[in-house]
Amino acid sequence: MKRLVVLGGGESGVGTAILGKKEGFDVFVSDKGNIKEKYKNVLKNIEVDWEEGEHSEDKILNADLVMKSPGIPDKAPLVKKLVEAKIAVVSEIEFASEYTGATIVGITGSNGKTTTTMLTNHLLKNGGLNVGMAGNIGDSFAQMVAESHKDFYVLEISSFQLDGIKNFHPHIAIITNITPDHLDRYDYKFENYIASKFRIAMNQTQEDYLIYDADDAVITDWLEKHPVKAQLLPFSVEKKIENGAYLENNKIIINIDKQHLEMSTDTLTLEGKHNTKNAMAASTVAQLLKIRKATIRESLENFQGASHRLEKVLKIQNVQYINDSKATNVNATFYALDSMKTPTVWIVGGQDKGNDYLSLMPLVREKVKAIVCLGLDNAKIIETFGSVVDFIVETTSMKDAVKISKEVAEKGDSVLLSPACASFDLFTNYEDRGDQFKEEVRKL
Ligand code: ADP
Repeated sequence: MKRLVVLGGGESGVGTAILGKKEGFDVFVSDKGNIKEKYKNVLKNIEVDWEEGEHSEDKILNADLVMKSPGIPDKAPLVKKLVEAKIAVVSEIEFASEYTGATIVGITGSNGKTTTTMLTNHLLKNGGLNVGMAGNIGDSFAQMVAESHKDFYVLEISSFQLDGIKNFHPHIAIITNITPDHLDRYDYKFENYIASKFRIAMNQTQEDYLIYDADDAVITDWLEKHPVKAQLLPFSVEKKIENGAYLENNKIIINIDKQHLEMSTDTLTLEGKHNTKNAMAASTVAQLLKIRKATIRESLENFQGASHRLEKVLKIQNVQYINDSKATNVNATFYALDSMKTPTVWIVGGQDKGNDYLSLMPLVREKVKAIVCLGLDNAKIIETFGSVVDFIVETTSMKDAVKISKEVAEKGDSVLLSPACASFDLFTNYEDRGDQFKEEVRKL
């Protein structure tokens, strides 16, 4: 019996344990932190041995195969030891994809992964395909492979998952965009992070497809220097694309070989240029998989976006409150501000990940009438925008931030929470931040 050691007892770890057990491995789960009660119960039920609070090397270095959860860096001493001992260390998507013959749509990028994944899943499902959605978005891919038989998987994939692949091979890959993020895990070298994202295409062949943002110079420059084997299907909101998707007079046009699809952006439920891009990417997948055009159009018209992403909360006294708590970096906030059509009271701030706010300057000048800082350290925001926006104030609780926003907003304005920062200085996570925002807005 082969020994599978799973490092990390979270969603992907426990999913891997379930699949490993089913496939006949002797499975052991080790987590240096605590394992949640619900996961312990699962492990007990399937009779898998586990430990928490430590990594016992004698139970780990005898593995034939190790699945490392994405949260554990390659630099961790134990991981280094495993690599030195020539024990294969893979990620969950690598492990799980060995045990399914389903067609895989893999979606990565710095922003827009979740939205594009949900949208793609929605299109394929409405098209009648037997499809499962998994990965970073919530459910473990490995668990889904163990417990259900899908013909298609739509997977949201982080760069950390891609770092641990060897044979993983999506038939259709999407790179939504690439902007600097998580550089602490990539020796602070942007090119390492780009290379990691492009691993999604490394096992693709001429029969496969890579869909990407042709307006993103980081992606196009990289592709020029590092060609891939897959057929390229770019999308653009700026220029005409022969084979792929583009925008013309508020219409999305997609040409793939001789197939042609047109649809208006006016009827899309998701607003903003970035969501037009996400819709282009998802519709390209749907067209490749031969979903009917009418179904694609209808599905885009009735898609309900994910929470905390430009989520319209309430309109109070003709002021629209919008929750974009998931905007944890400057690029995401750029698109949020870009999509605003009214004067905006902007709630921004939190834990800065080395932000450069200058790219937001033109949008802030044009649209933002007041800035409500919500964070422990707002110096950079005040320094950047203090002389541009008339009203700028600091707060340290969501209650105060929302209350002050209401006071400065006038009829016809919007109040936008789009922090451009991580949430950990004042909140548990971005969901907590967004939930608190919604709660305070509802109390107004
Ligand atoms: P991810 O899963 O990659 O974090 P999400 O779909 O959760 O992406 O969106 C994260 C944030 O980025 C949200 O604030 C959203 O409005 C914004 N966003 C969504 N799609 C894009 C895109 N294509 N380009 C830039 N920003 C985007």
